[in-house]
Amino acid sequence: MPGRGPRRPGPPVSASLAPAQAPLAAGPSADDLTAAERDRILAKAAIFAPPPAQLADGRRDLVGLSRDELIAEMVAIGEKPFRAKQIWHWIYHQGKTDFAEMTTIAKPMQQKLAERFVVARPEVATVQTSTDGTRKWLFKFRDGQQVETVYIPDDERGAVCISTQVGCTLSCRFCHTGTQRLTRNLGAAEIVGQFMAGRDSYGEWPSPKDEPRYLSNIVVMGMGEPLYNYENTAKALRIIMDGEGIGLSRRRITLSTSGVVPMMDRCGAELNVNLAVSLHAVTDELRDRIVPLNRKYPIKELLDACRRYPGASNARRITFEYVMLKDVNDSEAEARELIRLLQGLPAKVNLIPFNPWPGAPFETSTRAQTERFADVLNAAGYSSPIRRPRGRDIMAACGQLKAEMEKGGEG
Ligand code: SF4
Repeated sequence: MPGRGPRRPGPPVSASLAPAQAPLAAGPSADDLTAAERDRILAKAAIFAPPPAQLADGRRDLVGLSRDELIAEMVAIGEKPFRAKQIWHWIYHQGKTDFAEMTTIAKPMQQKLAERFVVARPEVATVQTSTDGTRKWLFKFRDGQQVETVYIPDDERGAVCISTQVGCTLSCRFCHTGTQRLTRNLGAAEIVGQFMAGRDSYGEWPSPKDEPRYLSNIVVMGMGEPLYNYENTAKALRIIMDGEGIGLSRRRITLSTSGVVPMMDRCGAELNVNLAVSLHAVTDELRDRIVPLNRKYPIKELLDACRRYPGASNARRITFEYVMLKDVNDSEAEARELIRLLQGLPAKVNLIPFNPWPGAPFETSTRAQTERFADVLNAAGYSSPIRRPRGRDIMAACGQLKAEMEKGGEG
């Protein structure tokens, strides 16, 4: 299980294994170790790969293909590459799922496409809308696996919180999803599909060119650790950011990680979306307990990776998520230590009232204590909003809806 056990350096190159007269080889550098670690993470992700995006009748889902893959599909059926551009527009700008509605494509070709492909959406297993407007879907995929997606409105805009894995390996103690074992990673089609199905739900097609958009932001903060499913997540986000389709700017996308340090560098270099880090504790001793991944990538390594993250500036701060757990991590002394840790880092801190579920091992900090914690941070110049609890009437604690449905035998 990733995230367990202390981080150990790779084996040194043993002199006894080297040819007698050869000069001693140097040990692996820090970069080599990081690259090896990254390879290990990607190999592990492959074990949990999603099933092919294909129907039982053999038709392939076009959602989730990169532009190059879409071109290759067109060429493979004897069509010109430019058809991919047209289809891309219909799928991601217009939101069409029926080839017959793709009116720039001649009827015979529409038929040919329909015989070979589909433009699919995840099935809506359940949808609930809170009295505060928060909407939560339980989406079901072809193999019966389910994930949650949440839309959190804010005036005329709003953020869609999308999932990247079915379950999670990381077992963060305050997280309900962490109690559900990892079943598999989501494919790019399933990740993009959550956002597109959300758009369907609000009728927000074609993709608005101007602000405001109702579904204006994405937070990759749902079920799973996105950096443990990097390839599929990155592919999905590239599709979402493509200016000829959904066209959501990277500044409107925030990826949240528990601190998979080797992949944070790659995410910064390749996607450069906003970064959020689930911190939740200011000492390794406590963080080892409540975010077990810390045993592998302790706080100092995590914050060093944040300092390396490209584009971190006062205009584009890194968000640190801090769940307020009564008498566990919510003292003013801990707030002061947090300030010391974040020194020099363009950062804001989101204080999240713990959203308990039946049998949860923690209680929510009192409002007064949360405010005292926020005051210390604010006085030091760190913006520290206290997140309003949203959708409590629809069990918005991540992973809770899925668990309830499965318990009720509906999942
Ligand atoms: S907080 Fe995120 S990484 Fe931790 S167990 Fe929950 S889903 Fe997994």
